[in-house]
Amino acid sequence: MIDKKLIRYSRHILLPDIEYEGQLNLINSHILLVGAGGLGSAASIYLAASGIGKITICDFDNVDLSNLQRQILHTDKFIGINKAVSAKSALEEINPEVKIFGIEKRLDIEEMKKIAREVDVIMDCSDNFLTRYSLNQIAYDLKKPLVSGAAIGFDGQVSVFDFREQASPCYQCLFPDSGEDEELRCSDHGVFSPIVGIIGCTQAAEAMKLILKVGKSLMGRLLVLESKDMNWKTLKVPKDPNCIVCSNK
Ligand SMILES: [Zn+2]
Repeated sequence: MIDKKLIRYSRHILLPDIEYEGQLNLINSHILLVGAGGLGSAASIYLAASGIGKITICDFDNVDLSNLQRQILHTDKFIGINKAVSAKSALEEINPEVKIFGIEKRLDIEEMKKIAREVDVIMDCSDNFLTRYSLNQIAYDLKKPLVSGAAIGFDGQVSVFDFREQASPCYQCLFPDSGEDEELRCSDHGVFSPIVGIIGCTQAAEAMKLILKVGKSLMGRLLVLESKDMNWKTLKVPKDPNCIVCSNK
């Protein structure tokens, strides 16, 4: 690591759980982040600043004025421009040392899988169930860790499905897909701005802990925040023995 990098990341390197080695792991890692909205904004800013070497960020949507209240990556001058393009520009400003790959098109499962195969961690920062179930299946098939976050109203939640471990439950175990075409999108509802920041940052922390192999992840647990009363709860997420995705049936 050259001197400039040592200085940039010195407050990580000073941490006994990270040190030089750990920072090198972050620099050599690749994270796939799906969704450059509110969750993705907060998560990607910390990932980029922390020196995650490669970040692939996917979003086919364009920046809208109504996004700017909470999607802090995007600014007025990017209204009407694709969010992955806006995200790449903002993240490169934050840390020119990291490689940002912006994917502007809507990917099908096979295309997403091809990208996911190359990464260390998959982050679901999306706002719809179709993407959530697809990413769950892809991460399970590839045996990659999936860090899942969601926020709506004043509430948010985070969990980790670490498919490198046999014991890990999956998103389908937690929220069985009824097969109904529910399009409950965050973007169609009210969202208290800081909640997406809190949840997105928590996702970034979990993703980086997985890369650093530090502490205990949220695998098997759902962290729930009700911000009106500022109540944090941790619920157990058991593996469903009859799950259609992860039960091997
Ligand atoms: Zn499952």
